[in-house]
Amino acid sequence: MGEVDKLLLPKKVADRYLKGVTLGEGTYGVVFKAIDTKTDQTVAIKKIRIGKQKEGVNFTALREIKLLKELKHPNIIELIDAFPHKENLHLVFEFMETDMEAVIRDRNIVLSPADIKSYIQMTLKGLAFCHKKWVLHRDMKPNNLLIGPRGQLKLADFGLARIFGSPDRRFTHQVFARWYRAPELLFGAKQYGPGVDVWAAACIFGELLLRRPFLQGDSDIDQLGKIFAAFGTPKLAQWPDMVYLPDYVEYQNVPGKPLRALFPMAGDDALDLLSRMFAYDPKVRISAEQALEHRYFASGPPPTEPVLLPRPRPKKESGNQKTSNLSHHDGLIVLSPPRKSRRVMPDREGHESIVPQVDKMDDHQSEVRQRTGESNDRVPMSLDFSIFGMKPPSRPTINSADRTHLKRKLDLEFQPED
Ligand code: ADP
Repeated sequence: MGEVDKLLLPKKVADRYLKGVTLGEGTYGVVFKAIDTKTDQTVAIKKIRIGKQKEGVNFTALREIKLLKELKHPNIIELIDAFPHKENLHLVFEFMETDMEAVIRDRNIVLSPADIKSYIQMTLKGLAFCHKKWVLHRDMKPNNLLIGPRGQLKLADFGLARIFGSPDRRFTHQVFARWYRAPELLFGAKQYGPGVDVWAAACIFGELLLRRPFLQGDSDIDQLGKIFAAFGTPKLAQWPDMVYLPDYVEYQNVPGKPLRALFPMAGDDALDLLSRMFAYDPKVRISAEQALEHRYFASGPPPTEPVLLPRPRPKKESGNQKTSNLSHHDGLIVLSPPRKSRRVMPDREGHESIVPQVDKMDDHQSEVRQRTGESNDRVPMSLDFSIFGMKPPSRPTINSADRTHLKRKLDLEFQPED
């Protein structure tokens, strides 16, 4: 039986997973926690609505997903399984504890230059691997960089933008992805390459240094305006092909600021790498592979070992634990009906989840926990005091709305989902 045929056996595959709490709602649909009964591992299942597929599921999407399943690298989230069920495609990923956005936003975390180097190195390693396999990410942003229990950073949502369409076309809540968008995309380029991911990685690099999003445009035009205000309006000599881009318009000439003024606390090597990652012309922009060879990674301080990286305290019961370890928290044993009648992948029409929905902890709670936890006496990399005084701007995502919703649920001790 071919791999694609195997993917078309929903019942058998779906029966493998026990559904847990909802982790959040993203670009393509709901993500929930589950236990893989075959391996006893905790997984995250992304449910993507594909609608009624009278002619069977979309084979192109399945073939693409099969390719993603073969993308195995320590810095890429593993796609464990994929199967259609009802009107949804379910993608099963290894479960991760936290993400880069949470690290950046956590005011109790101090990131040293070596920590930032480590996070960026892992990001670039993941990118370089995928680019070598001709897969683009296209939706790089801090909350797509997931962090595992031993500090390992893994790129998530690889290739989904290509398979399921550009998020901004479909969901308005994706506006914040604009902050990471390369100028060629903002000028409407239809053909583009791995450089778009490198630009986004540079924005994330900048965000780690500043502890706030670097270029926060509120429309595509404004985004370009913000980019030009930082680096100067691109000159024709710098980027000859820009005038041929579909949405190219001439912008008023503004001079750029020195990179050192934008990132006062970054060292010379970091600034040099940033300038190459932020090159306007995608043909000139450094590749992820070349970036890894940059002297920034060879010069001191060496990147922090992932396991030693500061990160937010894990949520109550996260981690790749075995079912038996989870049962106290999740109530798998106490609350589940007998094994035979356990519902797996319940649908939205009134069936209950077998796991109570109360383990989602909001940001505030995690901050309180962090404060009571171990202190971190590392040297700060950035002196952006705004991180101590106020919360970074909330990102207009469904996720944040969802978090509020979950918090309310938590406050009310109201458990059932769906
Ligand atoms: P987006 O499309 O906005 O990037 P996602 O669909 O990737 O969002 O994720 C939605 C939510 O699910 C987020 O809160 C994210 O942290 C969580 N999530 C996604 N993948 C995983 C995973 N592998 N492990 C744990 N949580 C995950």
